[in-house]
Amino acid sequence: MTTIFASQALTANGWATNVRIVIEAGRISSLTSDARAETGDVAAGIVIPGLANVHSHAFQRVMAGHTENRGPADKDNFWSWRQRMYDLAGKIDAEALQAIARQVYGEMLATGYTSVAEFHYLHNEPGQRTTSEAMFEAIATAAADAGIRLTYVPVLYERAGFAQNTPSAAQQRFVRSVEELIAHYENVGKRAGNRLMTGIGVHSLRAVFPESLRAIAAVAKRDRVPMHIHIAEQQREVDECVEVLGARPVEWLFEHCEPDERWCLVHATHLDDTEVAAIARSGAVVGLCPSTEANLGDGLFPLKTYLELGGQIAIGSDSHVSVNPFEELRWLEYGQRLITQSRNVAAIRRPQTGRSLFDMALTGGALACGRSSDRLAEGGNADLVVLDDDSPMLAGHTTKSFLDALVFSGFSLPIDRVMVAGQWCVTDGRQEGREAAGAAYAAAAERLQLETVST
Ligand SMILES: [Zn+2]
Repeated sequence: MTTIFASQALTANGWATNVRIVIEAGRISSLTSDARAETGDVAAGIVIPGLANVHSHAFQRVMAGHTENRGPADKDNFWSWRQRMYDLAGKIDAEALQAIARQVYGEMLATGYTSVAEFHYLHNEPGQRTTSEAMFEAIATAAADAGIRLTYVPVLYERAGFAQNTPSAAQQRFVRSVEELIAHYENVGKRAGNRLMTGIGVHSLRAVFPESLRAIAAVAKRDRVPMHIHIAEQQREVDECVEVLGARPVEWLFEHCEPDERWCLVHATHLDDTEVAAIARSGAVVGLCPSTEANLGDGLFPLKTYLELGGQIAIGSDSHVSVNPFEELRWLEYGQRLITQSRNVAAIRRPQTGRSLFDMALTGGALACGRSSDRLAEGGNADLVVLDDDSPMLAGHTTKSFLDALVFSGFSLPIDRVMVAGQWCVTDGRQEGREAAGAAYAAAAERLQLETVST
């Protein structure tokens, strides 16, 4: 049993003071405000719930900073980046994946993510055609070692494009049949426990056949697990979808499937007004990854209209050019300010923009990871972040603006401790095993010879 005494805590009922939190078997067994500290309590300043990172490709962490040079064709865009990513992906074996994932999951914990949905399509080891569980094991071991809560989302990949019915050579190792993917998902599901859950998904409309999408969606519906898909990230993808399927991606999806609150539509950047309304009405969560979307030149999600219609959002760090939930929220808002020449765009359901963004990401993040709520409440998971209330970053702020300060000021987050499932993963700003993880990551980066991924 662990007990925490927080001067202030953001609970399911809002901010409370002098909060005593009792944690047993990974869950909050009692949460009492206006309480007194007792002997043995961990003295905490400000306690907030941890956020979910709903979209991760862990292996891409090792590419960060390696694709920022202009290519010889002078036409750098998402598709030229993707070729570089494939060059890297082709080299990642299970050993490298485990080292890279362990590093990035540790980085997530350090910045206040307490759970991650890993959108996984590197199913086979390099050069292998037969399926094995080694790549999944690498992800699961890395998450368990770091201590982060994992929603493992194996995704289907079948073909190179809407009109290309076979995968390219580089995509070959992403491929599993529908039956193989479902069998893999079911096998992993048998191991699900306190910190490991499963979802399922398809890579994108362009990468799977329509009947396969329906088969995977039926499994998600049957098992009531999250269903993830990349959608409408690039204009070219929208144009090709219209050309081949006769409808825009989100339009087609809603005509042929029934997305609901279990669905996570990743990016959903290029939408018309009808599509914005359809997603908002469905309750599906849009998984926004602002730092990656900016890095790849994707475009801007129509946030204001979507939020006005009651749409749900969550955030992800995707390619991990940034691993910081508060930076994702900041850039989500800043993109909107820049394009609308106005301020406080996301403050639609609450007057405070930082708090509003945090609350939306908390609610949508839980749903996209397969949980009903990540708020701090009795019976809920003990996944929380302790902020240092002596930090200059929070000086002069009160509960009214703590989250605005976290989103809109400072470079170094005042995170003192992080707990997942009742276990401290970060204590006094430090993580056990972080140095060894960093050394293994450096060795993997060295072995992958990333400089060859530069043209
Ligand atoms: Zn992605």
